[in-house]
Amino acid sequence: MTTETPLTKHINLAQPLAMADYVDVGGYQSVKKAVLQMSASEVMAVVKDSGLKGRGGAGFPTAMKWSFVPDFEPQDPRYSEDKYLICNADEMEPGTFKDRWLLEGVPHQLIESMIIASYAIGANKAFIFLRGEYHLAARRLQTAIDEAYAHGYLGSNIQQSDYQLDLYLHTSAGRYICGEETALINALEGQRANPRAKPPFPQVSGLFGKPTIVNNVETLSNLPHIINQGPSWFKALSNNQDAGTKIYGASGRVQRPGLWELPMGITVRELLFKHAGGMQPGLNLKGFLPGGASTDFLTADHLDLVMGYDEVSQAGSRLGTGGIIVLDDHNCPVGMVLNLLKFFAQESCGFCTPCRDGTAWVVETLTRIEQGQGTKQDLDSLHKLCDFMWLGKTHCALAPGAVEPLQSALKYFHDDFEQHIDKHCCPYHGHH
Ligand code: NAD
Repeated sequence: MTTETPLTKHINLAQPLAMADYVDVGGYQSVKKAVLQMSASEVMAVVKDSGLKGRGGAGFPTAMKWSFVPDFEPQDPRYSEDKYLICNADEMEPGTFKDRWLLEGVPHQLIESMIIASYAIGANKAFIFLRGEYHLAARRLQTAIDEAYAHGYLGSNIQQSDYQLDLYLHTSAGRYICGEETALINALEGQRANPRAKPPFPQVSGLFGKPTIVNNVETLSNLPHIINQGPSWFKALSNNQDAGTKIYGASGRVQRPGLWELPMGITVRELLFKHAGGMQPGLNLKGFLPGGASTDFLTADHLDLVMGYDEVSQAGSRLGTGGIIVLDDHNCPVGMVLNLLKFFAQESCGFCTPCRDGTAWVVETLTRIEQGQGTKQDLDSLHKLCDFMWLGKTHCALAPGAVEPLQSALKYFHDDFEQHIDKHCCPYHGHH
């Protein structure tokens, strides 16, 4: 058990550390160590040993993702072609605001991290794909990028090595689907941001058809600390088999909504009752989404659940982004799910029928039920729609993500749906 907070200890939201101050607290040391003393494959090996998994939501092992970038022989004409690193900073999952903290509070850490990742995969061009609404982050990142160029951490011959990296900031036009890695790549190329079919995965054929790694902000931000302090230190930070810390969050009617960098693998109870201060007076916990809107509801029976990738999956949901959204007993679950599904319906790219039509039908059906005009047949339709929109039947993960809160609400809060139908009204009306 640790109280170390490597990712957030230098955060200052009022005024992030400028280059000189960041260097004073040990900033950019990892870059010097990596580019001057380590080969790319040594950096990759350290990250592999650390056990770092992707913090965007899916938990895919980071070094394994990197290892899919093809290693062409020098005589192969593709040897000298570009490879790219993209930082996915298009944080738009409802209930998720962890990356914003890092972007606004310690922008130099992300740049340092991206130099490490780019060096490891052999990329000479890197992009930050930033959520359009993150205006403050955009200004602070650009200031930090300019400073990094001026101090020889970006551009050619980084710290007198022969490594070169150019880093570009790109702000999104503002759709949720732009955060899906292949839609993001299309958006960066100036195309309509529909997701691409996978495979081929971006690691092999990504931006402009070239090998591309897309990593989340929080994932990348671990790299300087792993390089400086080593894989064993990183593994020891966590409470479970997932290494490192996690920036967990809580929103909903808890006493203290917010963000905390904590050992990976803390329990839901510790997060909600110790850090978030428990429920607001007069309210009880009815359910929660463990990691953003596209995860399955769990209930008060799951308070001792460990917030790790395998543990939450085994409980029937996903860790996702680790940003818990709390449902209290005075809040209508049907109304909450309707609210979420309206978001997904609006953000569907419209490319595939199960998502385009499915999310719209769900919204129409849920609206009817919530207004007390639903029938038992509507419940059957919702179950069928969940199946129609599930993985393997859609072009990307948006519709299956939208199904997660819906199918689990139908399971855990079935009585609430029934009561809306039987009483021809919302039983929570007047209790909000
Ligand atoms: P995914 O599991 O398909 O992929 C995750 C990563 O692993 C990708 O980079 C992918 O290229 C790689 N990968 C997976 N399988 C691979 C394979 N067989 N070969 C090579 N690489 C492989 O998930 P996804 O669709 O990229 O993302 C879904 C996740 O995003 C969900 O967990 C959701 O919670 C999260 N999400 C986060 C936000 C946010 O704002 N942070 C928003 C929406 C969704």
